[in-house]
Amino acid sequence: MKRSIWRSMWRGFNLRCPHCGHQRLFSGYLRVSPACRNCGEDFSHHQADDAPPYFTIIIVAHIVVPVMVVVEKVWSPPIGIQLALWLPLIAGLCLWLLPKVKGAIVGLQWALRLHGFGETKVSSSEP
Ligand SMILES: [Zn+2]
Repeated sequence: MKRSIWRSMWRGFNLRCPHCGHQRLFSGYLRVSPACRNCGEDFSHHQADDAPPYFTIIIVAHIVVPVMVVVEKVWSPPIGIQLALWLPLIAGLCLWLLPKVKGAIVGLQWALRLHGFGETKVSSSEP
């Protein structure tokens, strides 16, 4: 059965199971659940590794840096105000986005059947 890449990534981005979209993908802030409690999908195959922080930093930088440049050109506030403004914004965006990006990457891996996600399940009725 074909798995939709965008739907799986969207479900993962929303911290939901990429297969059914009903249960939470994570059991902690960044800890992926062992399996979905709704459909039984085994999540132990995921290997997101360093990709979520890498993509999170790229996305946040592409959001914040243009705003920083515009604020500097228009207002040019003192460095203390800039630190008080940009550091919490960058930290908050990174902390908010990191699990979402990790969920999207796990959803992508599931959709592409990477790292064992495509293996057929052994029926529990078999010996
Ligand atoms: Zn599920």
